[in-house]
Amino acid sequence: MHNRGVNRLRHYGETIFATMSALAAETGSINLGQGAPDFPAPRVVLEEAQHQIAIGNNQYAPGRGTMELRSAITDERARRTGQHFDPRTECLVTVGATEAIAAAVIGLVEPGERVVIVEPYYDSYEAAISLAGARRTTVALRPDARGNWRLDPTEIRNAIMGRGEDDRAAMIIINSPHNPTGAILSAEELSAIAAAARDAGALVLSDEVYERLVFDGASHHSISESAGMRERTIVASSAGKTFNITGWKTGWALAPEPLIEAILRAKQFMTYAGAAPMQPAVTVGLNECDGGVGRLRDTLQLNRDALVNGLRDLGAEVCDPHAGYFAVADVSSWNLGDAPQAVHTLAYEAGVVGIPVTAFVDDPGNPIFSSLVRFSFCKDRGAVEEALRRLDAYLRR
Ligand code: PMP
Ligand code: GLN
Repeated sequence: MHNRGVNRLRHYGETIFATMSALAAETGSINLGQGAPDFPAPRVVLEEAQHQIAIGNNQYAPGRGTMELRSAITDERARRTGQHFDPRTECLVTVGATEAIAAAVIGLVEPGERVVIVEPYYDSYEAAISLAGARRTTVALRPDARGNWRLDPTEIRNAIMGRGEDDRAAMIIINSPHNPTGAILSAEELSAIAAAARDAGALVLSDEVYERLVFDGASHHSISESAGMRERTIVASSAGKTFNITGWKTGWALAPEPLIEAILRAKQFMTYAGAAPMQPAVTVGLNECDGGVGRLRDTLQLNRDALVNGLRDLGAEVCDPHAGYFAVADVSSWNLGDAPQAVHTLAYEAGVVGIPVTAFVDDPGNPIFSSLVRFSFCKDRGAVEEALRRLDAYLRR
């Protein structure tokens, strides 16, 4: 008997990040694809993990995460935002934000229910919805006249409310600061989403993994801080981006107790617990490394400037990223075809790899997205500059 796997997952191939990193290796390209930072983690964080392994902290961690880590997560959030979560009941340590997202969708959305996501979307949202056997509706971000990616408040409300009582969304997944555009949802956008979520009785899953990497003194507000939203929001975040430890896969969910219990029900049978020696090390990062996070943010901002200015000098249109790791460039003026074609040509001919934004949308032919390429600036400055030199040499050919 040939079992080719379940129908609801059969259309998934390798993720775009794996494919593009392999393409970079094959072509000897500079990899501005996958958002894996070139920067080191804070020394005290690395030393703590090594120490923990050396002293034998190598067996299962508590399923919810250590109490110390959960307290460090909720303390850091309270310091930065003034928002309080109870570390005993409202915080769950997960295997990266990815597990928080998957367990939240699987634990809180019934098969057949509808989830609203925003295009371009991080690939795991769509896959988590498939894992749960749920359905999705997408709403597109669009660039406005001032070069900022924006949501249409009416469109997102209509998507959440659906065609009537029986068609309300069960959950909305948002990501601010946003991968791939670097957009931060405005107060107006957040309040439109919040009002519709309240009216529809829907939950909001708010992916905030770039929450501390916000540039130009801008501020990011979690939708969980909006009126009436604390009770219906799950915040997902991660230590990966904040401390340059994406390979440690240590993240968390913050939510009211009943929602955390539902997420835990799924999480405990996915992984049971996260890696034990990493938890005290991430605790040190959250308790002691605010200064290092500030320096990382400043470095990323300078890299952002170098990459965005360089791409604009090469004739690409780029909206300003206000946070995170990525810039999205419209490369139609380079005449290399649509985004997937352009990305392949640039890898083989110029020696630079980016990610086609079409991998993050339902319809790759949608003209809003069809010629957009995501380039990552969480890389050494030298790599960013060399990538720009290579693109320049190729485009002048
Ligand atoms: N959400 C977004 C928007 C991301 O960019 C990423 C990864 N870069 C994740 C979630 C996953 O985070 P983690 O690696 O902690 O699972
Ligand atoms: N989040 C990272 C990105 O967007 C990659 C994560 C992954 O490889 N799954 O590039």
